[in-house]
Amino acid sequence: MSEQQRTPAPVPDVLRVHGFSALEPGPKLIVLGGVHGDETCGTAGIERTLAELDSGALALVRGQLTMVPVANPLARSLMRREGERNLNRLFQPTRAGEQPADYESRITDLLCPLLDAHDVLLDLHSFQSAGEAFAMIGPRDNSGTLEPFARAFEEGQLALHLGTSRVVEGWLDIYAAGLAQRAGGKPADESEIAFGKGTNEYMRSRGGYGVTLECGQHRDPAAPEVAHRAIHAALRLLGMIAPDPHAQPQAASDRHLQPPAAAPALLRLVSVIDRDSEEDQFVREWATFDPVARGEPIGVRADGSVLAAERDGFIVFPNSAALPGTEWFYFAVASERDLRRPLA
Ligand SMILES: [Zn+2]
Repeated sequence: MSEQQRTPAPVPDVLRVHGFSALEPGPKLIVLGGVHGDETCGTAGIERTLAELDSGALALVRGQLTMVPVANPLARSLMRREGERNLNRLFQPTRAGEQPADYESRITDLLCPLLDAHDVLLDLHSFQSAGEAFAMIGPRDNSGTLEPFARAFEEGQLALHLGTSRVVEGWLDIYAAGLAQRAGGKPADESEIAFGKGTNEYMRSRGGYGVTLECGQHRDPAAPEVAHRAIHAALRLLGMIAPDPHAQPQAASDRHLQPPAAAPALLRLVSVIDRDSEEDQFVREWATFDPVARGEPIGVRADGSVLAAERDGFIVFPNSAALPGTEWFYFAVASERDLRRPLA
C-alpha cells in the first residue's frame, strides 16, 4: 500500500450546487441526492439530468431548478449513511450566536437557505433491504402544532406522478407517537420532535412542500433510472420542461395535472413497534410492504410471547438488527385518502 493510500481522505469542505434559471418565471424546484452518503442513485439521476441540460437535450422553459448531487459530501467520501451524524435529522439552521455542532450542522446551514428559496423539494434516497421504490409524503392539511400544513394536495400530486407503485403518508405523527410510547405516554417535547425532522419537514415548515423518493435498494441497478425519471416527472408536472412528446395528447389546461393511469397504492403509517430486547426475533425475514393479516404472527418477544398484527396491514421498514429500545418495524394500513382529489 502506498503512502498516499494510507493517508485518510481530507474532509470535503465544499458543497456542489447546480442552478438553472429560466427567463420565464415559474415554480422553484430543488432536488437533493446523497443526503445519506451510501445512497448513490439520486446523484446519478441528477448528473444525468445535468448532462441533458448542458447538452440542450433538456430545456428548462420556466422557473428555477437547483440540484445538489451530493448533499452530504463527508458521508459520501466515506460511502456511509452518515458522516458525523444523520443529515436527515434535526434539519434546522444553527441558532444565531451558536456554533454548528458538527459537520452535518454546517451542511444544514448551507442547505436551509437554499430550501428557503424554493417551493418544492424532491429528496432522492435508496434503502437497505430488498423492495420496490416508493414515495413518502407528509401530513394532510392541518393547523395542529406538530406539523401544520396547507399544501397536501400539491404534495400528493407530486408523489402521484413520480412513477412508484406505493406512496406512504404520516411519518412525523408516528415518530412522535413512538417517542411518547417510549416515555411511558408522556408527550414528546419540542427538542425530541425536532430530532425527527428532516429535509421535507423543514421544507413544509417554510411554506413549501416536499416528497422523499426511495428509489430502490442501494445497489439496485434500476434505482438511478427511477431517480432520473422522477426528476423529469417533477419538472413536467410543474410545467418547467416541455410535456412528454410520447404522452397521450391532453387539453392544454390540465396537461400538468393528469394523474398516471394506475394510481399508486397509498399506505398510512399507524404505529411503530420497538424492539425491546436482543432476543426479540421476527418469525421470518420481512421486507417493506409485506402484507400481514389480523392475528398473523410478526415476531416473538424475549419472554416467548407472540407479537401478532392487530389488524390487516403492512410491515414497513423492518429492522431485524434494531438496538433494544429503538424502532423494530413500522406498521401501515391502506389509506382511505385519494391523492387525485383534494381532501374535503
Ligand atoms: Zn436515505
